[in-house]
Parts: sequence; structure tokens; C-alpha cells
Amino acid sequence: MASPPPIPATPAPSSQRKRGRRESVGLFAIQCCDCQKWRTVPTKDEFETIRENLTEDPWFCSKRPNCSCEDPADIEYDNSRIWVIDRPNIPKPPPETERLAIIRRDLTAMDICYVLPNGQRAKSMADVQKFLDANPEYKDSLSVESFNFTLPKVVEETVSGGSAWRTNKQAKNQGKINASSSKK
Ligand SMILES: [Zn+2]
Repeated sequence: MASPPPIPATPAPSSQRKRGRRESVGLFAIQCCDCQKWRTVPTKDEFETIRENLTEDPWFCSKRPNCSCEDPADIEYDNSRIWVIDRPNIPKPPPETERLAIIRRDLTAMDICYVLPNGQRAKSMADVQKFLDANPEYKDSLSVESFNFTLPKVVEETVSGGSAWRTNKQAKNQGKINASSSKK
């Protein structure tokens, strides 16, 4: 039996915390199945595309233009930031929706919710069903199967070591790369 495919991880830098109950993930990364190095993924959309078919379509450095396994890793898997390990094969969010991963205040877990076309948030399949019942015109474009509330896993060791997350002043020094990448 082959080893399970490495799954994308989503480090959450401290710079995102002030934004409150918004997406907590500030940087996306994927591990090469071959060399095991971590490569950053520039956008959430691209990350969601990779994640969607990861088991069938494993990721390698060669999938990125001008990148090979010889190149140094973009990012190291260490406790300088909180890492969150995502699950493979989560469908891309349906049109007009956004899937948000929000870390809990105590940093023990993340919650998943979807922003629906009417701006409301769905925290469970029951919420999705309620929305579809109230707005049947969306039944064709938003199928219940496209929603997935599987929680990513917060890597505990990176939380206890992740002082940058807790101390904002420190974060300013340690989290420079994250801070700049999170500003548009
Ligand atoms: Zn590689």
C-alpha cells in the first residue's frame, strides 16, 4: 500500500488575527509528493483547485512553472507560524460562495463556514439546506454535495511554539513575510 498523499497545509500568520471572524489563513502551501518540500500557493483559488483533486492528481514541484525539486523549499514546516493541515479532496466552493476557515480564540481548532450568496453564513449542512429551501432558485447552482465542512487540523506543536501568534509586537518582527503577503 502506497503511503497516503501529503495534504496541503495552511499556515495562519498572526497578521490575519486582527481581522476578526474572517478567514484565518494567510498563506497557503502544498507539499511536493516527490521531494517533500513545501511550496507556497499564491491564491486561495489556486489552493482550492489543487486540494479538490489531490488524491487523483498529486502535486509535484514540476507542476509549477520554472520550479523543480532541486529548488530550495519556499517555506519550512516549523513552529515559527501556526500550521493547519487541510484535508484533500474538498470540492471547490460553489459559485457566489466562499469557504472560510476561522481559527478559534483558544487556537485549538478551526471552524469552517460558507458565505452564501445572500451574505449569510452556513456553519453546517442544515444551514445550507435551510438556505436552499428558502431560495430554491439556487438549487441548480449550489448542490449540497459541493459543501464540505470537514475541519482542517491545527498542528498543536506549532501553536505552543508559535509565540508570534500570541504576541503582536513579536509578530511584527517574525511575521514580516506574512504581513506583506497579506496586504493587497
Ligand atoms: Zn518536489
